[in-house]
Amino acid sequence: MMRILIKNILNKTGEEVSLKGWVNGRRDHGKIIFIDLRDLSGVIQLVFTPACKDYSLAEKLRLEWVIGVKGKVILRPQSMINENIDTGKIEVSVEELEVITEAQTLPFVLDTDGREIGEDLRLKYRYLDLRRKRMSDNLRNRCQIIKYMRDFLTERGFTEIETPMLTKSTPEGARDYLVPSRIHCGKFYSLPQSPQQYKQLLMVAGLERYFQIARCLRDEDPRGDRQPEFTQLDIEMSFVEENDILDLVEELHIALVKKLYPGKEIKLDENNRIPRMSYQEVMKKYNTDKPDIRKNKNNSDELAFLYVVDFPMFEWKEGDKRWGANHHPFTQPKVKDEHDFKRLFEENPSQILAKQYDFVLNGYEIGGGSIRTHNPYLLKSIFEVLGNNPADIESKFGHMFEAFKYGVPPHGGIACGIDRIAMILQNEPSIREVIAFPKTGDGRDLMMDSPSDVDEKQLKELGISIVKKIKTINKNNK
Ligand code: ASP
Repeated sequence: MMRILIKNILNKTGEEVSLKGWVNGRRDHGKIIFIDLRDLSGVIQLVFTPACKDYSLAEKLRLEWVIGVKGKVILRPQSMINENIDTGKIEVSVEELEVITEAQTLPFVLDTDGREIGEDLRLKYRYLDLRRKRMSDNLRNRCQIIKYMRDFLTERGFTEIETPMLTKSTPEGARDYLVPSRIHCGKFYSLPQSPQQYKQLLMVAGLERYFQIARCLRDEDPRGDRQPEFTQLDIEMSFVEENDILDLVEELHIALVKKLYPGKEIKLDENNRIPRMSYQEVMKKYNTDKPDIRKNKNNSDELAFLYVVDFPMFEWKEGDKRWGANHHPFTQPKVKDEHDFKRLFEENPSQILAKQYDFVLNGYEIGGGSIRTHNPYLLKSIFEVLGNNPADIESKFGHMFEAFKYGVPPHGGIACGIDRIAMILQNEPSIREVIAFPKTGDGRDLMMDSPSDVDEKQLKELGISIVKKIKTINKNNK
């Protein structure tokens, strides 16, 4: 007999079925044993009476054992109906039981939402924590969010393209993770802080509409709710202005919420649009560039999106004592040309605005992007004022300047944080709750125990020797 999912036995009253799953609960009533069986689709009550040939095996069953049963779907007696679950009107009277694997007592219970359990323990036993309904629902709904984004964009002529993980540094303002090359001993790849340069090069390639559910890696010091690796919906488009990108992302997010989270209330402006405010305006009004503009901030079912536009191109980096790009150096400043740019920069760098925007939801930055500089002279001037000498520019970004010689379309894009939007839509307090295997605040995987030492042999092949171990966590050196 073929195994059937629990959700598919609702209309099979009177039929024989074969079910497989985990023991989710157990109650004994006199001689009758009730087992709740769980599979990916739900929970069903199994009934073992002494007439069952495997009754004595059923007596041994404990929580989280993996079992298979064959039996008959029957209606529950009126008094036993449970209106709270889909399968509450039926049960399975078991004829055969097979114990597939046994389970030790788990390090924590699964029948709560788990918030009362220390996070380290949950992370160490993440594969058990994910059995919890709240967590598996988070992962399933995250999958639906991503599927919605994919369908929405592909229907509009976008192509999903994977870009390399072994790459070269791209300046997103954080430290790179480096990967030593064995074949080119002494040289390193960087893991991508974002696919920024590749997606721009795809515009040179004529793809025009690109997206990717992209993994990004940034080696940052522990800070709030950050993860060393996170997932973005990364988009790039050719022949567009700022508003084309903002309109597209607006339509996507509103349609997504309406379809997948119809219970949420989206707060829009008087024109039924996501409000757009300049950086200057939001700073003046809210003193932050990611304000929470909900009326009632305790109401988690209210969603207040906001676009912040017209960011200053540069910010003063006190640590480095120099001007840095507020977003990244590929962002287009609002200037006529490189001469205008140089003049304005000399006058006062902070007066130069950029075609740059952030996407904000309930006080969280959930996206950001810009129109890019495709004029190579202007781009060179930007790198120069950011403190790169011509040799640096050539070695770090020569490929971009080379590409821009062969017919580059005007282009721009955005990246939207998938972990963050999933967190907010699932009413979770942290992105770790919507990531299957997150790291701790200080970047450790407690389940796999990484980062970890590696064999001397591996290091030797890479030409690496560890000179001395330094304490690397310094919360103040950002
Ligand atoms: N690469 C940028 C980021 O990851 C997004 C963009 O400019 O499209 O923040």
